[in-house]
Amino acid sequence: MTRTPLSSSLDSYEVWFVTGSQNLYGEETLRQVAEQSQQVVAGLEGLPVTVVWKPVLKDSDSIRKLALEVNSRDDVIGVIAWMHTFSPAKMWIAGLDALQKPLLHLHTQANVELPWADIDFDFMNLNQAAHGDREFGYIQTRLSVARKTVVGHVSNPAVRQQVEDWQRAAAGWTAARTLKLARFGDNMRYVAVTEGDKTEAELRFGVQVNTWGVNELVEAVDAASDADVDALVAVYLDEYDVADELRPGGDRHQSLRDGAAIELGLRSFLEEGGFGAFTTSFEDLGALKQLPGLAVQRLMAEGYGFGAEGDWKTAILVRVANVMGAGLPGGASLMEDYTYDLVPGSERILGAHMLEVSPSLTTAKPRLEVHALGIGGKEDPVRLVFTADPGPALVVAMSDMRDRFRLVANVVENVAAPDLPKLPVGRAVWKPAPDFATSAACWLAAGAAHHTVMTTAVGIEVFRDFAEIARTELVVIDEDTTVRGFQRELRWNQAYYRLAQGL
Ligand code: MN
Repeated sequence: MTRTPLSSSLDSYEVWFVTGSQNLYGEETLRQVAEQSQQVVAGLEGLPVTVVWKPVLKDSDSIRKLALEVNSRDDVIGVIAWMHTFSPAKMWIAGLDALQKPLLHLHTQANVELPWADIDFDFMNLNQAAHGDREFGYIQTRLSVARKTVVGHVSNPAVRQQVEDWQRAAAGWTAARTLKLARFGDNMRYVAVTEGDKTEAELRFGVQVNTWGVNELVEAVDAASDADVDALVAVYLDEYDVADELRPGGDRHQSLRDGAAIELGLRSFLEEGGFGAFTTSFEDLGALKQLPGLAVQRLMAEGYGFGAEGDWKTAILVRVANVMGAGLPGGASLMEDYTYDLVPGSERILGAHMLEVSPSLTTAKPRLEVHALGIGGKEDPVRLVFTADPGPALVVAMSDMRDRFRLVANVVENVAAPDLPKLPVGRAVWKPAPDFATSAACWLAAGAAHHTVMTTAVGIEVFRDFAEIARTELVVIDEDTTVRGFQRELRWNQAYYRLAQGL
């Protein structure tokens, strides 16, 4: 079978830049429109996704055809539109109605300063985005086109940042639309929030969620060769601070070899099936010797999505966050709010999981250890132990609210942790915005899950853009949040999202 290594790279993607106009202006003006729109594109060079200039659009048929071409091209992940001149917006109806890719409306103009002394009516005719884009805004709103609107000149770093955030969200969306997710076993018994409508998820996010018997994974693990195990153990010895008992000749070296075989088997299963995300279940490990810990940690750090206890919704978020953060410092991981330090005024959340936290959250060298796990009834699993780096972070959860999916995000700050000499798992310690009590009260009011993706690579704007593209509810807990305001937003959303779905 062919094996396809997972990619999270944005390098092969493009977004197309389209400039709207009409034939009314004559050749000379349209030549200038083309030239100046190319300059705008040049101003967007260096963003993570290449912006490709397309010839100026002047009539309905060419606009519709461009939309159909964008839809058909897997490498084109979105469209940026700008109305340098006035492009009567009825020309855009068929195209916008057909477009199935993310859209960014860039409300810009060619020049920063107005050349006051030289302005004649030719200048006015050419530089009229101030109202050309208003016409375009109208038709987008009238057609309920989901989009991001960015305002300002491309030389402004804030404008570039907003375009980059949207590009990253569009890449996350593309990753979701092409994601195949393998579940080994079902959800942890009796748990509510990790359940969800997998058929609806395929419609809303494009993710294929399917289940395999864990013994198919066991077969892949058993197929790992001694030579491959040797080679992977060498990688572990190089990359991590490996406990003496796990090193070659150590009392528990076999545990490390068993962990390496699990990684090899898991990786081959995922690569052969073209999967970008997976879940495990400690209640359903079949003949696996250990609950996969080290293997899951390393695969998440490479870009895979993962959810524990069958939690496929969080696995989607981890994969999407990994792609959205491609090339940036930091990473994305499954996280679970575990326990609190409730000292008034300096409350902190200690987050971790049984084993499965991605080492992409730290720049330090993790320690590789083996310890007993009082759950699952298997041999002691190997795992990476570390604390997430201090710095800005975000936790995001997905709940199935019966009629829709709800994303809940909390802007948080990872902080330095006290020594935790007896806690043998990867973990993060954070302070949530705006304060602990408000954050937790809002999280609970929203019915948000105990599992999250924690990302230290991308901020809330990227997730806002992703939710807009996905037409999925996102409620954000940040420095501006109050409990009363948040409760009102939940009530309004309840009505809005039901109405917005129609019948
Ligand atoms: Mn859990």
